[in-house]
Amino acid sequence: MFRFDHLTVPAIRTELPGPRAAELLARDTVHVSGSYTRVYPLVVEEGSGAVIVDVDGNRFLDFTAGIAVANTGHCHPQVVAAIQDQAAKLIHMSGTDFYYRPQIELAERLSQLAPGPSAKKVFFCNSGAEAIEAALKLARWHTERSRVIAFFGAFHGRTYGAMSLSGSKLTHRRGFSPLVPDVHHVNFPKNEPGAAERLIRELEETVFHRTAPPEEVAAIFVEPIQGEGGYYALPEGCLEALRELCDKYGIMLVLDEVQSGFGRTGKMFAVQHTEVEPDIVCMAKGIASGLPLGAIVAKATVMDWPPGSHASTFGGNPIACRAALATLELLEGGYIANAVVRGEQLRAGLRTLPELSNVRGKGLMVAADLPTPARKEAVIDACFRKGLLLPGCGASAL
Ligand code: PLP
Repeated sequence: MFRFDHLTVPAIRTELPGPRAAELLARDTVHVSGSYTRVYPLVVEEGSGAVIVDVDGNRFLDFTAGIAVANTGHCHPQVVAAIQDQAAKLIHMSGTDFYYRPQIELAERLSQLAPGPSAKKVFFCNSGAEAIEAALKLARWHTERSRVIAFFGAFHGRTYGAMSLSGSKLTHRRGFSPLVPDVHHVNFPKNEPGAAERLIRELEETVFHRTAPPEEVAAIFVEPIQGEGGYYALPEGCLEALRELCDKYGIMLVLDEVQSGFGRTGKMFAVQHTEVEPDIVCMAKGIASGLPLGAIVAKATVMDWPPGSHASTFGGNPIACRAALATLELLEGGYIANAVVRGEQLRAGLRTLPELSNVRGKGLMVAADLPTPARKEAVIDACFRKGLLLPGCGASAL
């Protein structure tokens, strides 16, 4: 089904970077923004399934999934066919001004698949950060409140609202002030007994008491599993406790499932490991197997903003929507079940390796710690040179 035989990877034939890669890297250095977070000099030519081929013909096994995007593998033939079919029919017509079938069909599917029994509505955009912006605007609009609670360690994106909600690294913020005001950060709970009670106590007795009157709080933004922050899941009971707290004070519970969504954890959305129904879910990354698409799915009673109040020229582009529909079919047709089985296999294997500790995660959203950040960098680089693509997260995790 995929173009490359997985048994032929890894296959490193040149020094890294190879001659063609080196030539392109030199041009990139001159012309491309230096702000990106490139970790190693991989110049990609093709991808198929879990295999990446670089411009010099070296084959790598891709454990990055294009940074949590290629949930159905690179260039799955069914996704490619949907893209090609749609590209020949209609590439763009602006779904914020007109109507077309793929956007309506995808909104129906996402409404059905989103967590919880309430009727849902969908707003389409192009990225994770844009989904966060949309959720922030909707929460403020719907509640007529300004303040927002977010977590240290969280990463929500790099636009102003998303950056203001993030609490991960100073490099994301340094030099970019002033940020969006009225964002209050709290500690992401450690996985210890009593974590949920402590979290609620911190919010009610400290934050709501000292800095953020609860009747002014529009939303709590949280990743069910922190991605960039280190692949830390909210401890058991925390989502339920946050739901209860939000209900008590009329606050919107907003889940950032940009990284944890679309089958990665062995459920369509990570929150579905619980019974909690959020008010708004933010999604992007794996939604369309690599085409740019983001969305928020909110309770229909919450998505009550009027015409013209929020929109996006490209959001919900027909080709991206067709890719997403094909992606959802594959995820439900076996890829999510596969993530459960392969995730267990991966964690079991990682536990047998020296140096790695704290092997954690759900499904294929898996991490393990190395002793130091420097060791993490060294292992990531060594794996690249042997043909395994790995991303890091948190301070010293793979
Ligand atoms: N939210 C989470 C949890 C993410 O991991 C990311 C990106 O890594 C974002 C939001 C931002 O997504 P994007 O880069 O598409 O703007």
